[in-house]
Amino acid sequence: MSDDIVFDKSFDLAPGTVDHVVPGVRRVLCDNPGPFTFSGTVSYIVGRGKVAIIDPGPNDDLHIAALMEAVRGETVTHILVTHTHRDHSPAAAKLKAATGAVVLAEGPHRASRPLHVGEAGRLDAGGDPSFRPDRTLADGDVLDGDGWALEAIATPGHTANHLAFALKGTEMLFSGDHVMAWSTSIVAPPDGAMSDYMASLHKLRRRPETTYLPGHGGAVRDAPSFVQGFIRHREGREASLRHRLDKGAADIPTLVRAVYIGLDPRLAGAAGLSVLAHLEDMVSRGIVVTDDGPPSIGGTYRLAVSGRAPLAGG
Ligand SMILES: [Zn+2]
Repeated sequence: MSDDIVFDKSFDLAPGTVDHVVPGVRRVLCDNPGPFTFSGTVSYIVGRGKVAIIDPGPNDDLHIAALMEAVRGETVTHILVTHTHRDHSPAAAKLKAATGAVVLAEGPHRASRPLHVGEAGRLDAGGDPSFRPDRTLADGDVLDGDGWALEAIATPGHTANHLAFALKGTEMLFSGDHVMAWSTSIVAPPDGAMSDYMASLHKLRRRPETTYLPGHGGAVRDAPSFVQGFIRHREGREASLRHRLDKGAADIPTLVRAVYIGLDPRLAGAAGLSVLAHLEDMVSRGIVVTDDGPPSIGGTYRLAVSGRAPLAGG
């Protein structure tokens, strides 16, 4: 991928150990590494004595035990969930049972748009459909804890219900899977939507927080300019798709081969969905059209108006 984002993959936290990020913020890495999770899910503990846990993680008994050990002698008052993917929310149920904490999130898992025929299975694959928060959070809601306050920031795009959390009175923001230092986010319909994702990037770029603590990997430094890099990256991807479509109609596998060079084969399916996310956005903006109904993974796409001048004497 040729773009100017400098990813930071330095993150040598050992799973299950408690790492003190700054006073009042600890993190514990879950041992669930993979192509989509990097070294694993990072759960955060905010406060001292009466604490919040952000993103309890997957239903992994070792990780839940590590979190309980990390807060031994303290009270967990809140469990916050950035979004309802299986590597972030399922441990909320057992942690709530063990602590009595209230579980907060934007809402249950849902798609960003109505499903097409055959899409239901894919939505379930990464989602946590059984998750239900005790209380829902809307954009701008502030949770006041004991010595800490967190502001919920609606950041849909990776999922429809994605929230980031700003730690009030600090430069820090918990960014979930929306902005991470090690990789771009997956924006895969029907869970994700590119137009929402871009709007959420612009929203964060205008905010004052400079350090983001993401759901995977280490901290994002100089966050507003890093976010601007992601905006440019997606604009560049859209330009590449336009460039390929200017040569003629194409299906998604053709577009993936044209715009992803040196792709990890394990990520080919995700790349196809990312291209679909761009195409949905470009269709909604009137740049691209399909000949076969609403944008779908099996569809064929062409530019609404060719950017190329007609050939003389054609
Ligand atoms: Zn994740």
